[in-house]
Amino acid sequence: MTKTLIKLIKDINEVMTDNKKYLTELDSAIGDGDHGINMTRGFSKVVEKLENNQYEQVSKILKDVGMTLVSNVGGASGPLYGTAFINASKVINDDNIDFDNIVEIGETVINGIQKRGNAKKGDKTMLDTIIPAVEELKKGKNENKDLEKTLKKCVKKAKKGMKDTIPLIARKGRAQYLSERSKGHQDPGATSSYLIIKTIIEGVLDDNRI
Ligand code: ADP
Ligand code: MG
Repeated sequence: MTKTLIKLIKDINEVMTDNKKYLTELDSAIGDGDHGINMTRGFSKVVEKLENNQYEQVSKILKDVGMTLVSNVGGASGPLYGTAFINASKVINDDNIDFDNIVEIGETVINGIQKRGNAKKGDKTMLDTIIPAVEELKKGKNENKDLEKTLKKCVKKAKKGMKDTIPLIARKGRAQYLSERSKGHQDPGATSSYLIIKTIIEGVLDDNRI
């Protein structure tokens, strides 16, 4: 399972690199134009860290991912994503990642981001992608739905959440200073969150790697 997780993190690094320009353009419209740079810097440092260490536990990998993001990304997104990965490392079950555990991971990711950034759904942030995705997971679990189908739906909900940030007025992060003028633009952090969720879920489903 450690190999699978390392591969997924490397996939995220590639996706961030492929979307560096796009994320930066989105952040140029309503922020300071560094989101693509922040994400690629963060994840390339993460890959470096993972390559220089040996791992026996997935929890330790997630912890190192989080710590590396917190200490290498200057923007708001570094500590927020970093906290998300650190929180996930505390609840992930090293032996058996089942449906319950996936929901638990999703919930603690949201709690970590909210504790650190104090944002809620509708504030035009990464949480507008993450919260609907985790809600779909919870719903799937509570209704005893098939995990694979639920994960696929989760990607769709994340995409919708990302798109739904377009008409919103930003209430957190740099974009809040634009108030009304932040309308009509897709949030960069909501976009990187979608890319991360999509990469993890598609990677897991492709290879049946869970
Ligand atoms: P910075 O805004 O410091 O330049 P980035 O450009 O890397 O950092 O990241 C901006 C993204 O961070 C935003 O698009 C938004 O999604 C997210 N963000 C900013 N503040 C918060 C917050 N308080 N809670 C959740 N997400 C936030
Ligand atoms: Mg920025």
